[in-house]
Amino acid sequence: MKSIAAIALESNQLLSIEEIEVMPPGEGEVLVEIAATGVCHTDAVMLEGLNSKASFPTILGHEGAGRVVECGTGVNSVAVGDSVIPLYGAECRQCPHCISQRTNLCWSIRETRDQGTMPDGSTRFWLNGLPINHFMGTSTFSRYTVVPEIALAKIRSDTPLDKVCLLGCGVTTGVGAVLNDADVRPGDSVAVFGLGAVGLSAIQGARIAGAMTIIAIDINPAKEAIARKLGATHFINPNTIGQRTVECIADLTAGGVDTSIECTGVLSVMRDAVEAAHVGWGTCVLTGVEASGQEVSIPPVWVRYGRTVKGSYFGGVRGRSELPTYVDMYMNGLIEIDALISHNLKIQDVNQAFDLMRSGQSTRSVLHFE
Ligand SMILES: [Zn+2]
Ligand SMILES: [Zn+2]
Repeated sequence: MKSIAAIALESNQLLSIEEIEVMPPGEGEVLVEIAATGVCHTDAVMLEGLNSKASFPTILGHEGAGRVVECGTGVNSVAVGDSVIPLYGAECRQCPHCISQRTNLCWSIRETRDQGTMPDGSTRFWLNGLPINHFMGTSTFSRYTVVPEIALAKIRSDTPLDKVCLLGCGVTTGVGAVLNDADVRPGDSVAVFGLGAVGLSAIQGARIAGAMTIIAIDINPAKEAIARKLGATHFINPNTIGQRTVECIADLTAGGVDTSIECTGVLSVMRDAVEAAHVGWGTCVLTGVEASGQEVSIPPVWVRYGRTVKGSYFGGVRGRSELPTYVDMYMNGLIEIDALISHNLKIQDVNQAFDLMRSGQSTRSVLHFE
């Protein structure tokens, strides 16, 4: 099948709009027509060659939503016409991780996903006779993509796909980090570092959990309005407060926040987020993705004196089982997505979307195929 796709031929080059050939889905695989896809920082990290697993040429994109076009043999949990969200984290329900019920990290197909292929080791994308790699198992920058059945969340059919696509990464990561991986209680204080789609969604999670004080932190003053709209009670711009961010947070909260959520992937910010958690009980949840190989250091006494440092992957959400609930929360008005979408563009404008993201002008760009 022919498909328009944005191809990353090499690192640090503009994506190239091409017509590719998409092979039919194999056993346990599903052909999906993507309606719309968000553009996330993780796509840029890959494009900049900072992802150790980078393997070009590839089709980026991991925040899409679409409809099932064709099912390979053995597929029984989705059917043609179903609305679906591709998952970069599968949920096989059979591996030791899934069976443990202690994590949403299913690693059943991680190896081939990270190699840029389907679980059988081959690719479904071809350009002029050359194989093109998959990315994160999703490759939503192609109108047609092939995804393993165990990496597909079936969602209700009455949702706008060009909105709920953000539940494929950013929104779920932020809301879930608070609701699943932190322990926010009614009346608590929460600080959110970095107000991209993940951070703004973490603010929503804090609001949903009943936090009373929600401190939003970003060096872009334009983020204050939307942060407050989504539930923030305070805004800190580290560049203009005239004191350390951590000291400012301590002043606002009598010593530190009950929960801090880090959403930048910048090491110095991660360190601040740990320090900002209240001594004795505060929890810091790391969601930002650092460049491959980077390390952060903290004085052990911060943890010995009762702080907890945790991480969160896809908001701790098991995609196939739990993402439909997040779609419901959006449809019921509990989770705001529309306000996070600053730009609606065509897939042909994908390079503009990357520029907007790098310059900080966009909260989220959504690329449309229709
Ligand atoms: Zn992402
Ligand atoms: Zn599994």
